[in-house]
Amino acid sequence: MPTRIRSLPGCSKMATPSSEPDPLRLGIFGGTFDPPHLGHVSLTRALQESGALDEILWIPAGVPPHKPASPRTSPELRLQMVRAAIDGCAHQSVSDIELLREGPSYTVDTLRALRSEYPKATPVLIMGSDQFAELAGWHEAEELVQIAEVCVLPRGGVELATAQPRLDVVWRAADVAPVDVSSSEIRRHVREGRPYGHLVPMAVAEIIEREGLYLE
Ligand code: ATP
Repeated sequence: MPTRIRSLPGCSKMATPSSEPDPLRLGIFGGTFDPPHLGHVSLTRALQESGALDEILWIPAGVPPHKPASPRTSPELRLQMVRAAIDGCAHQSVSDIELLREGPSYTVDTLRALRSEYPKATPVLIMGSDQFAELAGWHEAEELVQIAEVCVLPRGGVELATAQPRLDVVWRAADVAPVDVSSSEIRRHVREGRPYGHLVPMAVAEIIEREGLYLE
């Protein structure tokens, strides 16, 4: 089944013909964030600066269905690190909705819950091309793409041309430059005693140090 691109270029806002104000474009950014890094931070900022999204809600996953072996860091610390990462970023916030829910953190359940909290918003799921390529396998994927649009971040290794899932999804490629960093790379750097301060916001590095995270 083909995927649909509703507007070009990139994730830009669409003009609406009516005099009604545009609905809030609410970016929903899920992840394990173990730890949050400068890729997460700079890419979400770029999305806002380009006008693609009005607000961004970071949602750390409790038990991520796609990464059964992770996260290794407690929900409280991951929440704390995300708070630290976005401190001072206007129109960005973090939600503990998935951390409070029992069982696997299915995105479709989160979207349903957010619908009642933000009834007038257009939900836009933000994800890297690596996750986009896997989207068809997500829990209730067909329902999920009825609720939210998708904004795909470029990520080295997974080309957009080959990432498109077999789903009837409204998606856009984010008009942002790729940033080559991953949480696993940071965990590896810490474990091997290599520098990693250039890969995470300073306040996140302070938490990693203070809590002795990722040393083994
Ligand atoms: P790990 O290395 O542990 O797999 P990660 O770096 O992918 O972690 P996550 O918290 O799992 O970090 O990512 C949350 C979301 O951000 C996912 O949709 C992922 O694809 C996206 N993402 C993470 N890093 C990047 C990056 N450098 N460029 C584009 N997208 C990214």
